[in-house]
Parts: sequence; structure tokens; C-alpha cells
Amino acid sequence: MNIIALPAFSDNYIWLLHDGRRALVVDPGDAQPVLKALHSTGLDLEAILVTHHHPDHTAGVSELREATGATVWGPAREAIPEPFIPLDDGDTVTALGVGWSVLDVPGHTAGHIAFWASDIDGAPLLFCGDTLFSGGCGRLFEGTPAQMLASLDRLAALPPETRVCCAHEYTLSNLRFAAAVEPGNAALTDYTRHCEALRKQGQPTLPTTIGTERAINPFLRSREPEVVQAVLARTASARDEVAVFAALREWKNHF
Ligand SMILES: [Zn+2]
Ligand SMILES: [Zn+2]
Repeated sequence: MNIIALPAFSDNYIWLLHDGRRALVVDPGDAQPVLKALHSTGLDLEAILVTHHHPDHTAGVSELREATGATVWGPAREAIPEPFIPLDDGDTVTALGVGWSVLDVPGHTAGHIAFWASDIDGAPLLFCGDTLFSGGCGRLFEGTPAQMLASLDRLAALPPETRVCCAHEYTLSNLRFAAAVEPGNAALTDYTRHCEALRKQGQPTLPTTIGTERAINPFLRSREPEVVQAVLARTASARDEVAVFAALREWKNHF
């Protein structure tokens, strides 16, 4: 199976997964880069997976469906271009002969979902939209800090070797914030060097892995003593883990 990050707009990735014959795409905010990739490779588009309703993830869905006849799957509790097959937590999508588990991960939007497969060429694979980014997490547009913390906890509990396909290239700016939170985190320093080298070569920093994110991402580390101390130094009133997480997210919003 091949995993390709198709760049779109200024910093989106539309993930395309294919087996040499059939393909699926995730969150096509723009149909053009997908149609170009399909034409140049001769792939048939079998499925379109949508994680949430924002236009930069959905604006290409109708054109792609009409051009290819692909089946569209998306979150049951969000308005995305009709017709689509609505998905709830615990549902399974079969696409490219693989079963994809649907996880409810509210926070960025109220009905945001993620897609997880246990074994793509020997390792799990996650499409998480705008919930988890490398070094960061999505803004809380519709959900509460408690919901986002629970969603990130869910993703953090996936196997560490899970490859994580995030929908934006926000990594370097996220890592600048992460370094302000945890200046003593050596894994973070190493990973930042690695990502800077990739970006210098014009390469995506993604996919990342759950194991990497658990070591470097402050939003998956909001119960670590160094992170709690950094938050309390700015927001002394943050009394419990949800309040610490909320204050951390607020800090990033103004960083
Ligand atoms: Zn979004
Ligand atoms: Zn987005």
C-alpha cells in the first residue's frame, strides 16, 4: 500500500492511499490535486473519507464523487456534502479491502471522527483530521477542553507504532511552542532537528507516530510534571488536569 500526502491550499494535506489499482482519499478540500494524481497514476478512486465539516476538508468532495463515483463516508453528526454514509463511534468502513475503525474525537468540531486501521503493511495507520497534529492539536472551535483531552487520550492509547496522518503541515510552528513548554525535553530537540531538515528538503514532516507524539507533543503530555509546572507558572488557577489542558491550549492560541 502506498501513502501519499497531496499538498493543498497553503498547508493542508489530502492523504491518498492506494494499492496500485484502487485508491482512497481523506478530507479532499480541493478536487484538483486528487484528480491530477488519479489521472497520472491510472488509479480508481473507491472511497472518500471525511473527518469533519470544515470547507478545507470537504470542498472537493462533490466534484470528486461526480468524477469518479467514489463512495463518501463521513461523520453522522456533521453537515458534509450529501449524499454520504454517516458514521458513528465503533462503526467500521471497508475500503481498499481494509477495515477502518471509526473513533469519535470531538473537540476541534463537535462531531469530528478519525479512521484507524490495525494493519497496513505491518503497522497501524490513523487519519485524524484536525484533532491531533505533530507537536500540537486542533483549536477548540466547537468542543470543550474536557472533550479534546478525552479525544487525545484515546488517540494516545493507540499502539505507539501507529502512523499518524494529520491534515496540516503545522509541525515546525507547533514545535516552537512545545520547546517553550518543555525546554528540557531532549527528544523534542532531536525531533525538531529532524523535522527542520525535512522541511528544508521540501518534504512533509508527516506521517508522525503515536510513540513520537507521546514523547514530544505537549498536548499528549499535559499531565507530565514539567508541562504542569510550565502551565502553572502562567496560570496558577489551573487546579485539575482539564484546567491545565485548557490553559495549555489557551497559551498556544496566543503564542
Ligand atoms: Zn478543521
Ligand atoms: Zn483543517
